Amino acid sequence: MASVSTEQIMKAGLDLAGWKKMPADSMVHVRGRNIKKAMIAVDVGTAELLMARSLGCDAVIAHHPIGIASVNFHKVFGRHVDYMVEHGVPRKTALEATKKLTERVETRNHADIYSDVVGAARALKMPLVNIHQPCDEYMRKAILEKIESGKTQYVSDIIKSVSGIPEFRHAATRVRVRHGDEDARAGHWALVIATGTNGGYSIAKAYFQHGVDTVIYLHVDYGDLTKMREEKLRGNLVVLGHLAGDSLGLNALGDRLEGMGLETVKIGLLPSK
Ligand SMILES: [Zn+2]
Repeated sequence: MASVSTEQIMKAGLDLAGWKKMPADSMVHVRGRNIKKAMIAVDVGTAELLMARSLGCDAVIAHHPIGIASVNFHKVFGRHVDYMVEHGVPRKTALEATKKLTERVETRNHADIYSDVVGAARALKMPLVNIHQPCDEYMRKAILEKIESGKTQYVSDIIKSVSGIPEFRHAATRVRVRHGDEDARAGHWALVIATGTNGGYSIAKAYFQHGVDTVIYLHVDYGDLTKMREEKLRGNLVVLGHLAGDSLGLNALGDRLEGMGLETVKIGLLPSK
């Protein structure tokens, strides 16, 4: 059996997205080598580190940002601006909308006791990495390809396409229209994924006000949704499903690592077949 290092695991994640540079929301927190068996989970806390040990794993791969990567999480939100501009939103509006989201998340994460899990991993001598945006970028491309390969006339066509992806088919949640109407024409649609987090109210509004008819997020907060509804924003908001989406990216990472000879233990992921 082959053995790899935490750096090689991170590189496998970047390769998945076709990226060279590690984004601010991904990091090798505790370095390690001679890794033969790794645990993969969406959210990793101290309990998962202990679990990894009892399952005989040499390393833990988390998806969501932890440690310093969670403090720096907001630094990847610039992709929201890129996507909005790509879809016709004026740059100034895109920057303003993203600034609101960035401030909200930066303020929240500033208060975090961000070192707890990484500290635990160090005490346990358990190599730990988290790979967030690269896995989400792979997921974004896979979903985009699936939508583009099907009909896109109505919002319901998009729902049908995404629902056919195994991880979404296996999910207990369904692809939902949270605002607007599934019988409406999809019109100009934008898949807003791999942007760190969903764009909430301010970014959906910017899209809707500049010619985008259907915005697709992985998930949305109820407070943001309520604002969209109260303002009767013109447009459709589709949410795909958080666990299904994250599973899609992490399953691909798992396959890649297994291809390198690593054994993986996936915790809580939806199956890819
Ligand atoms: Zn996620």
